[in-house]
Amino acid sequence: MMMADSSTNYESAKEAGISPPYRILLVDDQAIIFEALRRMLSEADDLELHYCGEGANAISKAAEIKPAVILQDLIMPDVDGLMLVKFYRSNDLTREVPVVVLSSKEEAKTKAEAFANGANDYLVKLPDKIELLARLRYHAKAHAALLERNAALEELKRISITDGLTRIYNRRYFDQVLANEIQRAKREKLPLSLVIMDVDHFKQFNDLYGHQAGDQCLTAVAGALQSSLHRTSDTAARYGGEEFAAILPNTDSEGAFAQAEKIRKAVIDLGIKHEASSAGDHVSVSLGVTTIMPDLNDSAELLVKSADLGLYRAKEEGRNRTIANPAA
Ligand code: GH3
Ligand code: MG
Ligand code: MG
Repeated sequence: MMMADSSTNYESAKEAGISPPYRILLVDDQAIIFEALRRMLSEADDLELHYCGEGANAISKAAEIKPAVILQDLIMPDVDGLMLVKFYRSNDLTREVPVVVLSSKEEAKTKAEAFANGANDYLVKLPDKIELLARLRYHAKAHAALLERNAALEELKRISITDGLTRIYNRRYFDQVLANEIQRAKREKLPLSLVIMDVDHFKQFNDLYGHQAGDQCLTAVAGALQSSLHRTSDTAARYGGEEFAAILPNTDSEGAFAQAEKIRKAVIDLGIKHEASSAGDHVSVSLGVTTIMPDLNDSAELLVKSADLGLYRAKEEGRNRTIANPAA
């Protein structure tokens, strides 16, 4: 499966309120409150006020506007404001959005309830303009910082599982997926196949065409591998150097062999000239395939070793070929 482009996440994070103007969503049945707040915020260029007059529409409005802060009234004719606060907290779209309760009540009991339901702040209507602006800015910036941190973490996570050169998954991710898939294959009693492939005479390729051409070749080979796999459950990874691997869940030995041959042909079809190869005029790969059935007590090490043995034999028998090796 191809990885998602991280810029999409970054864009959506920005759109969601990382930079001003910060969108503020007021949920209050009284339009007069909206009017009063609109006036208070009229000169605040960094805050953009949006209004929802019906509690029943609050969630869909929040999903649409992606506010940095929700200003929530407590007493509304159609929905209980406290229930809405609780709902914001349990909904993925609003879980991290600060909620400032805007209430006509001052009692400690009401405040306590609001905070217990997940409110971040509490203001009594009508708040003083300076206080309102300060609190809204404080919460909007805290929310922006949180979004930025989340986006950075996601980017780090992506980098930690991506191979820097070829952009497909790296060895670290391969190890994780293989361990998980072995467990799953045992649980679900489904076959699991592994393909390991290695570029033929790649040292000579580097020697003849240079290291940069070598890097480009590896990137192209990774692309051919990736685009040969169509199931979302398949995982292609750079195993190391000029070695690649494909994990094929729920794939029997015939299927895996056919898949490996498809990859081999896709690499040949790249048509990258290799005048120092004994295996042909173009860059080729040798592949080893192995399959486990779930009732066997196989480990990741054994599976890799078994596929590696197939690869070793493919090299010995002349390269540019696939050899299936049954798991021991
Ligand atoms: P065989 O057909 O038996 O696999 O021969 P080979 O030359 O491909 O194998 P060998 O293991 O002798 O050489 C692998 C070469 O791959 C040597 C190494 O410099 C090169 N290599 C490994 N990683 C990279 C890389 O990231 N970029 C480039 N350009 N070359 C790399
Ligand atoms: Mg090689
Ligand atoms: Mg090698």
